[in-house]
Amino acid sequence: MKFTDFDLSQTIQQSISDAGFKEPSPVQKDAIPLILEGHDIIAQAQTGTGKTAAFGLPILSQMKADGSVEGLIIVPTRELAMQVSDEIYRFGKLSGLRTATVYGGTAYGKQIERIKQASVVIATPGRLQDLLKSKKIKMSPKFVILDEADEMLDMGFLDEIKNIFTFLPKERQTLMFSATMPKAIRKLAEQILRSPKTVSITKSESTNKSITQLYYVVNDRERDDALVRLIDYKNPTKAIVFCRMKIEVDRLVTHLTSQGFKVGGLHGDMEQKQREISIRGFKKGAVDIFVATDVAARGLDVNDVSHVFNYHIPFDSESYVHRIGRTGRAGKTGEAITLVSPNELRTIKRIEKDVGTQMATQVIPTKDELVKNRESDLLLDIAQTKITEEAINMVKTLQHDLDIVTIAHLLASIVKQENAVSGKDKIGFDLEEIKRLIERMQNDRGSSRNRSGNRNRKYSRQRNDRNRNSSRQNNRNRNKSKRPNRDNSETL
Ligand code: ADP
Ligand code: MG
Repeated sequence: MKFTDFDLSQTIQQSISDAGFKEPSPVQKDAIPLILEGHDIIAQAQTGTGKTAAFGLPILSQMKADGSVEGLIIVPTRELAMQVSDEIYRFGKLSGLRTATVYGGTAYGKQIERIKQASVVIATPGRLQDLLKSKKIKMSPKFVILDEADEMLDMGFLDEIKNIFTFLPKERQTLMFSATMPKAIRKLAEQILRSPKTVSITKSESTNKSITQLYYVVNDRERDDALVRLIDYKNPTKAIVFCRMKIEVDRLVTHLTSQGFKVGGLHGDMEQKQREISIRGFKKGAVDIFVATDVAARGLDVNDVSHVFNYHIPFDSESYVHRIGRTGRAGKTGEAITLVSPNELRTIKRIEKDVGTQMATQVIPTKDELVKNRESDLLLDIAQTKITEEAINMVKTLQHDLDIVTIAHLLASIVKQENAVSGKDKIGFDLEEIKRLIERMQNDRGSSRNRSGNRNRKYSRQRNDRNRNSSRQNNRNRNKSKRPNRDNSETL
């Protein structure tokens, strides 16, 4: 199937081909015709499956660009508002459709001005409700979209949403998009949708098959070492490390930075400006590793995230789905890696069941394995490095006293030293031990142990007890950009 099979306007077709979209995704295939026929819809599909275009294209295609607000898109966070706005803008601009982005934490004046000229308003619930209630703005959009509806409810926006709808015209087309469909969402749908059609991309289609899901079993105090070792070993193009708490984000940013990675952080307590700078840095590649809390990273669409690391396993399956959905986007492959302590194995099993996938258990590479891995990277690096004038002169000078083979050996030794691996050899549990842990857990089943026991577990922050290796730190930044990415070569 092609986009040209849809009854979309000429200019929208043009912007689709400008965007380089070749084939509609499953949710787009199902949702676009229904929306064009004027139905309300409730659509469920995994993150990263193109939901924005699924509602964006058909509504933009029907707009008149007459200066009134024709479409209202409600999203949970500021970041998503900006992201959806970018996507809508790029598809609507050829048709002369302007967008206004509306969220809290910035001045009202400018936002109100922009709304007056916009065809599409993309807004977070809080600020939108403020503006409507205080009568600072009025609008009668023909299309109203609730994007990432499950997250809005998770974040406690139900009352705001209900209130917002009291200001909207009865004659409208309402579209609800969500990655998951908990009961609360269905209930809300009954209240605001009119004989909706359902679009549901089934699990096998939607649990993004291009994401490899792995978990590693470690002791709590080994998490930092495990994370660093795995980042070193996997050598991600871009990675997101998920934490449960803001304080952990700050701590890990500091720790990973001290290990020589280019690190950024994101959590709810950061100033809006800071968050934007942080996200932009990650998108542009100034930062390779992004440490974030669930809420802060919701819906974040950054291309080329090759790895998602769960520093701690999330409490619930839905968060897990959202987190891993940050990788494997737009047809690329990705890896989701979860660190668990022995008593969190239960949570792994529960999530596997809820999500309907299997995670493979793996063993953290030893120092030796990492060294070998590095070595092959190094050899590739050496083979691909451009020879400079200075290098030629250096060798000439050395040749006065040494033969060429000795010079080569010496230089290789220096490179090797700079790439030394620190940390302890064995981190975490091996397969045999994991097997035993799982058996023990299964035998325990039915005993009176509190199932959510790990929820309130002590959360002791570990001191960084790793040896710091400064030569390696410096070296990492230098090598990083040119080191070919073997693990993810197929994603490039
Ligand atoms: P979701 O809302 O389902 O999480 P998004 O709408 O954010 O997903 O889309 C994820 C990414 O995939 C975006 O970068 C988007 O531009 C891209 N994308 C969407 N549809 C297509 C398509 N048909 N072909 C190629 N890329 C697409
Ligand atoms: Mg989305």
